[in-house]
Amino acid sequence: MHHRICLLFVLALLLGALPEAARAAWLDRTEAIMGTRVYVQLWADDPAAGNAAIDAVMADMRRIDELMSHYKPDSQLSQINQHAAEEWVQVDAELYDLIKLSTHYSQITEGAFDITYASVGYLYNYPLHIHPTEDQIKAALPAVNWRYLQFDDATHTIHYARRGMRIDLGGIGKGYAVDHGIGILQQLGIRHALVTAGGDSRILGDHLGRPWLVAIRHPDDPTKVVTRIPLSDAAISTSGDYERYFDENGVRYHHIIDPHTGHSASKVRSATIIGPTATQTDGMSKTAFVLGPERALEIINRMPQYDAVFVCPDGRVVYSNGLRPPAPRPPGAPH
Ligand code: ADP
Ligand code: MG
Repeated sequence: MHHRICLLFVLALLLGALPEAARAAWLDRTEAIMGTRVYVQLWADDPAAGNAAIDAVMADMRRIDELMSHYKPDSQLSQINQHAAEEWVQVDAELYDLIKLSTHYSQITEGAFDITYASVGYLYNYPLHIHPTEDQIKAALPAVNWRYLQFDDATHTIHYARRGMRIDLGGIGKGYAVDHGIGILQQLGIRHALVTAGGDSRILGDHLGRPWLVAIRHPDDPTKVVTRIPLSDAAISTSGDYERYFDENGVRYHHIIDPHTGHSASKVRSATIIGPTATQTDGMSKTAFVLGPERALEIINRMPQYDAVFVCPDGRVVYSNGLRPPAPRPPGAPH
């Protein structure tokens, strides 16, 4: 006993003597990248190495943004939009694969998720309160169809089968970047981390023995929380009608577009998806938003790895089966 106390005392002295910089700690940082807020939090045994790991994730996010941003005219994505109706455009394998994966998501969601939504989506400008007229939507809508994206796997080239087509990876790129960031942290030996970009987060490990608690906000009040979900080793994405929007004559024009109508989807106020990777949950949160709770839950309740939370226009909160508390035992039921 005496020895143990002695050892503890020596340990305490040693720890006290260590320079501040060598102590294990939670580190975090926020940066503005991809037109949104990027946040990284991690547990680092060595703070210098932890900060270098955060640097690496932020640098990778900037790299992905350079490649895939539709705001940057020189990005490879913008090159596709500018030229793919006239000629086959060659792009890096990473971008090629993500565009191809997006069409796979379109296929399994009957087109609720469709990166060619941008063929009408570009007619909206939320900060300037601009939306297309019905005639403009009618004229642009035929170019919204993932089936008109043509691929050549051997050369990584892409072609548009129709004029007037545009693509935008705003509905999957942040999730992809978050997954890439988590991969970088894992390679650097980090075991507890959260990486967030806009509405997309992924959690690595637990919060030192407890789950992380991720909040879903109230659609009309950013300071109010609708629910908190405990998570470890999982991804979570929320799509909401309160992120990029304006109201006109009682109609909310916002950034999640139903590819079948060209209008902002209005079945829910927000859709949250929990699943294994942020690429998947990012794609599925648009899908769930466009389809609405009834149809989306038919699909999600059949997929054991996924869960969902919807905030409905009347304020109701709807959960997938995996998040519901077990039904109370009827009185007199055997234990
Ligand atoms: P965040 O960008 O904050 O993560 P979301 O994940 O909800 O928000 O993504 C919204 C973005 O998804 C829109 O700004 C747009 O770029 C894109 N998008 C909108 N509708 C669709 C759709 N039906 N299919 C695919 N992408 C879409
Ligand atoms: Mg997203």
